Amino acid sequence: MIEIILHCSDCNYGNVQIIDKWHKKRGFRKIGYHYVILNGRDKIRYRIERDGLIQKGRPVTEKGAHVSYHNENTIGICLIGKSGKFSERQIDSLFSLIYTLEKELAKKKIKIELHQHSEYDPKKKFCAGLDMKDLINKYKLYVLVKDYFFVDIDKLKKGVKRRK
Ligand SMILES: [Zn+2]
Repeated sequence: MIEIILHCSDCNYGNVQIIDKWHKKRGFRKIGYHYVILNGRDKIRYRIERDGLIQKGRPVTEKGAHVSYHNENTIGICLIGKSGKFSERQIDSLFSLIYTLEKELAKKKIKIELHQHSEYDPKKKFCAGLDMKDLINKYKLYVLVKDYFFVDIDKLKKGVKRRK
């Protein structure tokens, strides 16, 4: 089992390069998160094409540095923004990233679990500030739509063609 652990950057803007600098200053080899999901603000200016953009941080093949004493078998994803304040595009990208990871890991018969930082560290109560029950329910719906709903429509179309 691999745990996907969600974080917030606790700042209004940022990206992999910026967090990499912060983490290096704290003495890390490099950025501690495996993925960062942008909110469209690398600095102050908002750019829609950067909102929801997924950037790779530390390779997933390397152990992350994002939860004290709980980095084994985890993937750390950081959403840029203050606690619980994320854009719809970010959440949509988060779901597509989790979905991709879940499918990849399923090939190796590895299951995933979704958590956020605050579940493991009482000092990080604000991180990521998500309603996990609600998020997991929404993710399940996302998977349902992706796996069944769309596939069925494709099959239906093929079925109609074959009957001609
Ligand atoms: Zn965190």
